[in-house]
Amino acid sequence: PLDKDEIGTATWSFLHSMASYFPKTPSKQQSDDMTRFFNIFAQFYPCEPCAIDFQEDLKKHPPQTKSRDAFAKWLCERHNTVNVKLGKPVFDCSKVHERWKDGWAD
Ligand code: FAD
Repeated sequence: PLDKDEIGTATWSFLHSMASYFPKTPSKQQSDDMTRFFNIFAQFYPCEPCAIDFQEDLKKHPPQTKSRDAFAKWLCERHNTVNVKLGKPVFDCSKVHERWKDGWAD
């Protein structure tokens, strides 16, 4: 079976990539569908304590899916919440597209 860190890193890679490639100006349908995706994802994420905390975090910070930039920033902040909980460094969210789509500038 995958361990918590392995599934975590794989999942963040998928989620941040999906956010960085989300439409810049999504339709209402796309925006609503992505919100629904996260609410369902949080129910079935295969690490129970992670999923429970993530569901609570989503209640406080509902998905921001009206634009690519808002969505990528929102997801980066959710990841940072987990980073803080685990004592990991906070990521600079202004660099999220560089990390997950465009490649580092330097
Ligand atoms: P990861 O946190 O997996 O990050 C991978 C890469 O993403 C980093 O190397 C960095 O380049 C980049 N990155 C880092 N921060 C950000 C950011 N804010 N925005 C964009 N990119 C970033 N583990 C637990 O032990 N307990 C939990 O409760 C828990 N909850 C989780 C909830 C969710 C929804 C997910 C997806 C994972 C959760 N995890 C949890 C796993 C945890 O977040 C890490 O994936 C795991 O600890 C491995 O960490 P890592 O140091 O390899 O880097």
